[in-house]
Amino acid sequence: MGVIERFNDVREMVARAARDADRAAGDVALVAVSKLFDAAAITPVLEAGHRRFGENYVQEARAKWPGLRASHGDVVLHMIGPLQSNKARDAVELFDVIETLDRESLAKELAKEIARQGRSPALLVQVNTGDEPQKGGVSPRDADAFIGMCRERHGLAIAGLMCIPPADQPPSPHFAFLGQIARRHGLKTLSMGMSADFAAAIQLGATHVRIGSAIFGQRA
Ligand SMILES: *Cc1c(COP(=O)(O)O)cnc(C)c1O
Repeated sequence: MGVIERFNDVREMVARAARDADRAAGDVALVAVSKLFDAAAITPVLEAGHRRFGENYVQEARAKWPGLRASHGDVVLHMIGPLQSNKARDAVELFDVIETLDRESLAKELAKEIARQGRSPALLVQVNTGDEPQKGGVSPRDADAFIGMCRERHGLAIAGLMCIPPADQPPSPHFAFLGQIARRHGLKTLSMGMSADFAAAIQLGATHVRIGSAIFGQRA
């Protein structure tokens, strides 16, 4: 099966999961995660009309996306990987959504760059719902204070939340928990659900699902 067949299948499965959850297909956006795939691999998906992509590495996005944007326009690019504060300038320049805000030092740099560049990517706070040491994200017990601090001390508009549940646990409690935090803070965007668990995430209110290998194949 080629990339377009896989892409169409994924799109169809996401739409079906939305209908099963009694939601409109348009309520759930598919972020096609293209990390470690080159421009030639991404181009067929752009040519099929898809415009929303996710990348994990600033350097890689910088190498691939300015050219793809120039040739295809209207791209919406999500940063979904850990972001170092010293990459905030590039990230604000390159991305339309930054999903991995999780430290005050990063909040501060993003606020500075947003003011300097006059460009405002939508910002999501990543919550480490399983409190896993190897994962990015604010600890659940710090999430409320962190969101307040981003808003009040740094003047950032927070659009929503993102999580990556532990691989060895049922994901639904993590998705439900993220939804509760979002509701407490009036946040509309919930980026949760990947290839293996997007249906559960959609059931629990995901507005964005992030799917890579099911579309592009196994990464090298
Ligand atoms: C790589 C990645 C994905 C996509 O994972 P697949 O298993 O390729 O679907 C989604 N979210 C994040 C944060 C990722 O790093």
